[in-house]
Amino acid sequence: MSEETTGDQVALITGAASGLGRAVATALAARGTKVMVADIDEDGGRAVAEELDATFVACDVSDLDANVAAVRATEVTYGGLDLVYLNAGVATGFGLGEDFDVDRYRRVMGVNLDGVVFGVHAALPALRRRGGGAIVATASLAGLTAVPFDPLYAANKHAVVGLVRSLGPLDQEGIRVNAVCPGFAESKIIEPIREGLAQAGLPIIPAEQVADTVLTLFDGEMSGECWFVQAGRDSAPFGFRGIPGPRT
Ligand code: NAD
Repeated sequence: MSEETTGDQVALITGAASGLGRAVATALAARGTKVMVADIDEDGGRAVAEELDATFVACDVSDLDANVAAVRATEVTYGGLDLVYLNAGVATGFGLGEDFDVDRYRRVMGVNLDGVVFGVHAALPALRRRGGGAIVATASLAGLTAVPFDPLYAANKHAVVGLVRSLGPLDQEGIRVNAVCPGFAESKIIEPIREGLAQAGLPIIPAEQVADTVLTLFDGEMSGECWFVQAGRDSAPFGFRGIPGPRT
């Protein structure tokens, strides 16, 4: 599937009530793609769906059944599913010291990692019914480098990167799986650190720049790639080093 996304296509976007998900929903809707807005934020999701002439489905991505129901709702509403943007995510903001809390840990792993695992699992049968399709997951630069101030966020985003790279060969059956790895981008998630970023002189990436990269991943022929998005740079696949092979 290398043609530009067209109005004949149907997209399911998680975390589409806000930020990056909303930007991708807006960009796809502008191209005539039918969009299913999925989010745990029902008011926000409904507002985005109304604005884009899309449809809203309430979905907590950390719940497998909710992912299956969102895919089903998309097929029932639009007759199929071609593009899936598994983007819903939350900041972590705590470490492994006294601030560690096992329930919060399960929750952030549930959204940021299970949400992608469950989303892929739920979408695959629908994409196969369509004869192929494309999945993009939102990882992060935090999935490509150490993040000492937020180690659990780095852990779940690295997990998404490993998952996506390992699912690359699904392209043999026409289903391409890639990740977008943004740096600090314009959205609600950066509110708590916005001032610190400004003080450090770190530019904030426009959400539309991330959306452009997601559309590139939907339109291309790549699979198993993790594309960085960084201020002032063209997005490109991150170059992973190979592991040392065995010596005999
Ligand atoms: P955001 O807070 O604006 O949007 C996140 C959306 O996900 C919200 O609409 C929220 O309601 C939804 N959501 C949260 N938990 C959910 C759940 N359990 N089920 C369904 N929806 C849920 O933030 P954003 O920056 O747009 O975040 C989108 C993704 O981008 C996240 O995965 C985040 O980790 C990732 N990311 C963001 C940045 C950044 O700087 N903004 C950088 C790298 C990666």
